[in-house]
Amino acid sequence: MSPDLSASGIAAGVGAGRLSAAEVLETRLARIRELDPRIRAFLKVHEDSARCRARALDERRAAGGRLGRLAGVPIALKDNIHARGWETTCGSKILQGFRAPFDSEVVERLMREDAVLVGKTNLDEFAMGSSTENSAFFPTANPWDLDRVPGGSSGGSAAAVASGMVPAALGSDTGGSVRQPAGFCGVVGVKPTYGLVSRRGLVAFASSLDQIGPLTATVEDAALMLSVAGGHDPKDSTSSPRPLPDYAGSLSGGVRGLRIGLPREYFTGGAHPETEKLVREGVASLERLGASVVEVSLPHTKHAISAYYVIAPCEASSNLARFDGVRYGVRARGGLSLEEDYAVARGSGFGPEVKRRVMLGTYALSAGYYDAYYGRAQKARALIRRDFEDVFGKVDVLATPTSPATAFRFNEKAEPMAMYLADIFTITANLAGIPGISVPCGLTQGLPVGLQFLADSFREDLLFRSAAALERERPFPVFPFAEGAGQGPRHEPA
Ligand code: GLN
Repeated sequence: MSPDLSASGIAAGVGAGRLSAAEVLETRLARIRELDPRIRAFLKVHEDSARCRARALDERRAAGGRLGRLAGVPIALKDNIHARGWETTCGSKILQGFRAPFDSEVVERLMREDAVLVGKTNLDEFAMGSSTENSAFFPTANPWDLDRVPGGSSGGSAAAVASGMVPAALGSDTGGSVRQPAGFCGVVGVKPTYGLVSRRGLVAFASSLDQIGPLTATVEDAALMLSVAGGHDPKDSTSSPRPLPDYAGSLSGGVRGLRIGLPREYFTGGAHPETEKLVREGVASLERLGASVVEVSLPHTKHAISAYYVIAPCEASSNLARFDGVRYGVRARGGLSLEEDYAVARGSGFGPEVKRRVMLGTYALSAGYYDAYYGRAQKARALIRRDFEDVFGKVDVLATPTSPATAFRFNEKAEPMAMYLADIFTITANLAGIPGISVPCGLTQGLPVGLQFLADSFREDLLFRSAAALERERPFPVFPFAEGAGQGPRHEPA
């Protein structure tokens, strides 16, 4: 990859004065103009503010100033992360026109290291979904095949990186929303340990599961992004005070002596044979490098979908109660009372999937049902967490498919249950709080397959070590439309 394509390459070049931040940005903006009308990864591109920022960085450098670790790197933000003064819609009509009054902690950290924020990317409404089809505005297409979804809910961020519109983006992962779209789009995506990245300024979906994570074209870039975004935030009570380890240093560690577990339940769990084959080949290539591979069991995996789809809607129903059309978003009038005003605002502002979750969550939390649903789901969650604790006494990392199959076609999973079931391999990490990474491990029928590594809490270093080794063994065509690659979008949109 030419150096101006990776975040690390850009930062090194701009930091040393070899590249101009303004020129790097113009290349990316041109790519957005060329490709985004077909892919529709962005809800909003903030060209002017990005240009001002890039110019200011170049001037600072020219005046002899030292630039930070993300010098001049154009970055896209999922539109549920606040950047002051910019609209945060969460892909929902109820928040249209709402401007963030403050920067999220992650934005502050990116800016301190001299990144250039380019715009806000599309998502499933309030991050509920796995395809970006639940966006209230429009669906995003998969850069590898425009008839297919990019995954979700961070589908816009994944598609923007996969098509080279930006080298890096942030997404959020509550049940797989960074890793699954990364897998579908052939990029790298990390769900950090719960508490590693501050959630201040991320619009809450399910607060005990949500984590912000990076999407990038390379493992090195993911490590760089996480080392900037992560770390203690005293203003987030769930943020961990642990100092961050040196992720960049773990990239070259290699896998000799690393113990890799293959959880039986993830390989008999209905993954497509081609997906499974590529994941097994990826693991075998690490075995040849000196890793040991053993089969392990996570026996409570079968309860994960049910537990998640009780806990996440319960937390969502509580978190989304604040969107009443009075304090946030478009005020709807027309009712005869305040209560009717709420009903009008929420009835017209939320889409069908959000309403489904709010109703499910409210029902499961009501008196008389709480123990039967929420209480039971919490017990299942504890068992799932214990499965991982047991297994990480025996192995360093687990390797699994990120998703049971490759990117599906639009409307293929119109039935909500079909969409939920496809989250089986990603939601366990959120329930247990552990970190996961999806890294491309090959193509089948022209579509990327993601391999997921999972590790014990705060062992992101092991994820980067494993993923970097896999990336060296199985180099992946980073951008389907890379200059000189001679590939355009295979299909025009319908
Ligand atoms: N697909 C899952 C859901 O719909 C996960 C979403 C996410 O991680 N934000 O809840």
